[in-house]
Amino acid sequence: MQYNISKKAKPVDRHPMTFMESLYIPTIAKGLTITLGHIFKKKATINYPEVQRPFSSTFRGLHILNRDEQGRERCTACGLCALSCPAEAITMESAERKAGEEHLYREEKYAAKYEINMLRCIFCGLCEEACPKDAIYLTQTFAPANFERKGFIYKKDDLLIPETEASKKLN
Ligand code: SF4
Ligand code: SF4
Repeated sequence: MQYNISKKAKPVDRHPMTFMESLYIPTIAKGLTITLGHIFKKKATINYPEVQRPFSSTFRGLHILNRDEQGRERCTACGLCALSCPAEAITMESAERKAGEEHLYREEKYAAKYEINMLRCIFCGLCEEACPKDAIYLTQTFAPANFERKGFIYKKDDLLIPETEASKKLN
């Protein structure tokens, strides 16, 4: 008994080749026609990385740790982002702000260490939603390729948005 798993299956034709078939010319011509047809079609690929497609407006990429308008770090190491992270990708250590450090940290407690493991991260954006201080958000860039796993552990210095010239002058 023969079972047809897929109705698309076609039995292989094993008849002896005719004289025209043995010349291969009609088959080659048919193949070249298909190739020529594709030359004039719009390309499905782009010359990446020279050409890059714009991301969707809802794309969520690499994280950034935000500063306030005076250039102070917004993060208060409350841990809500780490708690809300389904991939357990965020780790941090908190520290208390000392006298004279008010121009560096906005809150009395700050993240002395802050790390995101981009190999674990699923870019869901829950950390951004959970943050009560508007301190973390996901940008429209992605983590570049790396040959080593440790290259995907983003530390605070990698995540912290650079100070603007204007905020440097304020401090
Ligand atoms: S985007 Fe999602 S998975 Fe990635 S660090 Fe934030 S909460 Fe975790
Ligand atoms: S990034 Fe936001 S949620 Fe995460 S520890 Fe800092 S202040 Fe809290």
